[in-house]
Amino acid sequence: MIITGNVSVSETTINLKDYLLPLPWHGEFWQSFNDRIDSQRLPHAIMLNALEGVGAESLAYSMAYRLLCTNVQSGVACGRCSGCLTLAAGTHPDFFYVAPEEKGKQILVKQIRKLCESVVKTSQQGGWKVVVINPADSMNRNAANALLKSLEEPEANTILILISNRLSVVPTTIRSRCQIESLSVPSKEIASQWLSGKAEGKQVNIDEVLEIANGLPLLALDYIQGDGLENRQQVEALLDAMRHANETPLLVAQACQKYPPDDLIDWILSYVHRLIVGELQNKPNPALFLFLDKLIQARAWLLSSANINTQLLWEELFIEWAQIFQSQR
Ligand SMILES: [Zn+2]
Repeated sequence: MIITGNVSVSETTINLKDYLLPLPWHGEFWQSFNDRIDSQRLPHAIMLNALEGVGAESLAYSMAYRLLCTNVQSGVACGRCSGCLTLAAGTHPDFFYVAPEEKGKQILVKQIRKLCESVVKTSQQGGWKVVVINPADSMNRNAANALLKSLEEPEANTILILISNRLSVVPTTIRSRCQIESLSVPSKEIASQWLSGKAEGKQVNIDEVLEIANGLPLLALDYIQGDGLENRQQVEALLDAMRHANETPLLVAQACQKYPPDDLIDWILSYVHRLIVGELQNKPNPALFLFLDKLIQARAWLLSSANINTQLLWEELFIEWAQIFQSQR
């Protein structure tokens, strides 16, 4: 059951073969997850805390398959039983997925209320009920309070998997009732090996893409498969051009209107971050650090509010960006 912003319950498909096995860098967690299932010590709520692009969502699906499969083999879901197939079809009655209707927006209290009602009402298939809340940090205060009750009085055989990219934003009352599992960014070797398998037949420089994606393998995969890389390179070229006064902030702000705002702010952040790291030995301009702070604020603002005038936001940021380099010319 998928519970999105408008409380509609729709069907979806969760690509079976991509999620039966956990990603290679989640192996350690996977082992302990299986051990805890076997010894019946699985906590009621697990918070997967990771940067976006590390694969917390993918891991949550693998966990759901593992728990809902009726024919688990060597700690991995079979992919063929009715549990696996109904989960893949998006129709498993004991799987609940809650997400904002639109990326970057909030999870609302009505969604959590509906979730709590549905979990209690659902006729179980005799096994686990699995709830995924993604991302948990997008629950507004009322939604978090509504969830708190079910964390305090857990339903039997129900596991809540909360995904968080910004743990500090999740209320302490929620955090303290979850077992927190922090998933780290995999080593470059592991990530590029995995990406090579995914990028077969494509003309890409894996190491370069991985670097642009700040080492985040799923983000790098997005770049390889979609037009994200091209868009991002265009934006970086525009930032470069403004540094050398070859483009004006106002025109660039206009040109940037075609990119999704939350992607754009991430691309700029990562570009500025790399610039600072690259200049660390030569003492980077302090204005760059102030600009980085401003970007982080702008990002939080974009994620938390609706109806932002992005044209104005980009203009303001780009004017400041160009000014940083004016004095150096
Ligand atoms: Zn199965």
